[in-house]
Amino acid sequence: MLEALKRVLLTFLLCLTLTLMFGLSFYYLPKNKPPGREVKEERVINLVESIRKKAKISEKIKVFALPGHLSVTAEIFRAKDNEIIILTGEELLGKWPDEALKGLFAHELAHFLLGHIGLVFKGNRDLEAEADAEVIKLVGKDALWSSLRNYMEDRIDRAEKVLQKKSKPSDKQQ
Ligand SMILES: [Zn+2]
Repeated sequence: MLEALKRVLLTFLLCLTLTLMFGLSFYYLPKNKPPGREVKEERVINLVESIRKKAKISEKIKVFALPGHLSVTAEIFRAKDNEIIILTGEELLGKWPDEALKGLFAHELAHFLLGHIGLVFKGNRDLEAEADAEVIKLVGKDALWSSLRNYMEDRIDRAEKVLQKKSKPSDKQQ
């Protein structure tokens, strides 16, 4: 009888220890720090702030940039400390005019507003159309046009650079 009680008590203690360790691991795990550099340029902060206010988003929004460019223009996600992060590339930030950045940030914030954040199928055409519709409401069709035009121009620029690289060796042979 005493042996059985001992076993129950030990099992209970073991469970308690495991639960505590599990809980503490969450507390001590490194916080989900966004990659890249936090963008502090006034131009970018002001653009995001104006859209955030218009969209009546109360959460704090930060922009982070990775060197070069992402495979997509930008991403939006929620960091562990509940901050909303827009992640984009330095190349685009340095090159795109305000109007295009406005369209881009509005598009990402629209995904957040519509609850698309964290969805794996974000590239879904219907969801993109919903986000773009929100962009038109928030910042107008010109800003949407400007962001799409700059995105396309970047793609064509990159394609042309590939062609230039490929044509160089044969030029030397001629
Ligand atoms: Zn999108």
